[in-house]
Amino acid sequence: MNSETRARCLRMARGRLACALLPLLMVAWFVSRGQIFAAGLLFCTVLPLMMIGTLVPRCAWFGPMIKRLAHDTGHALLTIDDGPHPEHTPAILDILDRHQIKALFFLIGERAARHPELVREIVQRGHEIGNHTQTHPAARFWALPPATLWREVADCQHTLTSICPDHPPRFFRPPAGHHNVCTFVISQALGLKMLMWSVRGFDGVMQDVKFITERIRARLKPGSIVLIHEATPVAVEVAESTARLLAESGLMCGASALPRSDDC
Ligand SMILES: [Zn+2]
Repeated sequence: MNSETRARCLRMARGRLACALLPLLMVAWFVSRGQIFAAGLLFCTVLPLMMIGTLVPRCAWFGPMIKRLAHDTGHALLTIDDGPHPEHTPAILDILDRHQIKALFFLIGERAARHPELVREIVQRGHEIGNHTQTHPAARFWALPPATLWREVADCQHTLTSICPDHPPRFFRPPAGHHNVCTFVISQALGLKMLMWSVRGFDGVMQDVKFITERIRARLKPGSIVLIHEATPVAVEVAESTARLLAESGLMCGASALPRSDDC
C-alpha cells in the first residue's frame, strides 16, 4: 500500500467525517442564534441516528457489509474472533478437525505477532484468516480518528500477510462490530470487505455455555454466519458445543462454506 493511496484514502475518510459532524455544527449555529427548538430537534434526530449507525454492529447505513452468506443453500459459516491464543487455538483446531468444519478466524495483529506458528497452523489446516485490527481497541474503536483507524487495520493486515504471504486476509471485522463513517473507506482501500455475523451467543460477555449454545441453536439457519470467541474463560467449551451443533444441523461448514469471491 503506497503512501499516495493512504493519503487519498485518509482525505476521503476525513471528508466523510466532516460531513457526519456537520449537523453538530448546525446545532451550535442554531444555539448561537437563539433557535433552541431547532437546535434541540436537530440534535435529537441526528445524534441517535449516528449512534445507531456506529454502535449497532449489523447496521449498514455507512457502507456495505456481509451479514449472511450469499450462497445460503445449505451452508453456514463459523467465525472465531480474538485469537490466536496459545491454549485455545490448538484445542479449537482439533475440535474443528473432529467435526470436519472449516472456519474463518478473525485474528488480532499483536497476538498473531506473538504466536505466528499458530497463524500458520490455522491456515495449514484449511481455515481462513481475517483482519480484526492490530490491538483490538474494542471500547474506543468507533471513535478513533481516521489516521489511527487506518493504522489499526493496516498494521494487522501487514502482520498477518507477513506471517502467511500466500493467504492475505480478505475480510475485516471491527472490534465489537462498532464502526464509524470512515471504517468502510479505510477497509476498502486496504482491499478488505467488512464481514459481520447473523448469529451469536454473546460468549464474549457471558459464561453460561448452555445459554450460549441454545441461543445459537435457535437462530441457526442456512446462510448463517456464526460468531464465537477465543480468549474467554469458556472458549473451548463454546467451540465444542457450537461445532457439535453445526455438525448435527446438516448445514455444510467445510471449505465450501468459506466466503467466495461472489460473496464480496
Ligand atoms: Zn474481537
